Amino acid sequence: MNDSFDRTIDYVRIAVTDRCNLRCFYCMPAEGIPYEPKAQLLSYEEITRLLRVLGDLGFKKVRFTGGEPFLRKDFMQLLESTAALGDYSSIHITSNGTLLQKHITKLKALGITKINLSIDSLDKERFKKITRRDDFEKVMQTFHMLIDNGFQVKLNAVIMNGINTQDILSLAALAETYPVDVRFIEEMPFNGGYKENKQLYSARDIYADLKAHYTDLEALPSTHGDTASLLSMPNFKGNIGIIAAFSRTFCDTCNRLRISSKGEIKSCLYDDGVFNIRDYMREGVSDEALAAKFSEIIRLKPKDGFEAEKMRKSPSQSMKSMSSIGG
Ligand code: SAM
Ligand code: SF4
Repeated sequence: MNDSFDRTIDYVRIAVTDRCNLRCFYCMPAEGIPYEPKAQLLSYEEITRLLRVLGDLGFKKVRFTGGEPFLRKDFMQLLESTAALGDYSSIHITSNGTLLQKHITKLKALGITKINLSIDSLDKERFKKITRRDDFEKVMQTFHMLIDNGFQVKLNAVIMNGINTQDILSLAALAETYPVDVRFIEEMPFNGGYKENKQLYSARDIYADLKAHYTDLEALPSTHGDTASLLSMPNFKGNIGIIAAFSRTFCDTCNRLRISSKGEIKSCLYDDGVFNIRDYMREGVSDEALAAKFSEIIRLKPKDGFEAEKMRKSPSQSMKSMSSIGG
């Protein structure tokens, strides 16, 4: 399906839960966020139905995220039914890596081998400070297990001024040693209310740090829908990516829709939810009505994240946590 700017929209990101066992300070306050009662979350049957309808509309890629997706009970069952749909050539998961080790064999058997792991620092103490939990070793163990089992791992690191800029080079070096893509993400103001007048460490700043050290760094052509500006280094096993999530320089190739754990559709990360598809489904509508609704939402997708922000009903997004939006 194409939107009114002739972008093909064929990628959906679904947050399966708003709960998390970590408390990354750029995402959630220390005390957590008020979680939705279970009945308010999309059920697995509802998610599978939405994916079937979207598959019929030409969607080919799905990413399950959260909150921490492996925290939701029987998440593997949802993955099984998604794989069984046969519509999705690409099933991805974004995870903090604390709970997935025991599922590696099953994931592999399902052919679900594209995992984004979030690791913002290779320093145990800084990792603990950022996530407010002491899980560094477990997450690194997961990283190694995934690599050893042939998974296609992308590592996500949010770079924050004065917090972990000193980690940029050591994280980038992982792409030299391992077949892993390392992606640096600009911090966005979606943290559940935590406020601090920190200056943005921008995609340009991150690039400057990398280029100063890796003088042979080369830009790669962008692929459809990739939000990362990709860079390669001779002899590196993986690529380096920089995601200008706050500067929003990639919107002209956007290919995605987001669905929050309670069924709120976001046609852009910066809008404040355009339609609740859970409530619509629970009114008893047909698959045809669902497909028509998705088509309408895709047609109305805003040009870019700045447009989406202007159209918001409530001006500030900073009270929302990325854990409820689905990062
Ligand atoms: N819990 C999983 C994880 O951490 O990978 C999945 C959900 S998390 C919300 C998805 C991604 O969003 C993570 O890579 C995380 O680093 C990123 N994220 C969360 N809050 C962010 C923020 N304020 N700015 C930029 N990225 C953020
Ligand atoms: Fe949890 Fe992921 Fe948010 Fe960290 S970024 S608090 S791991 S949802």
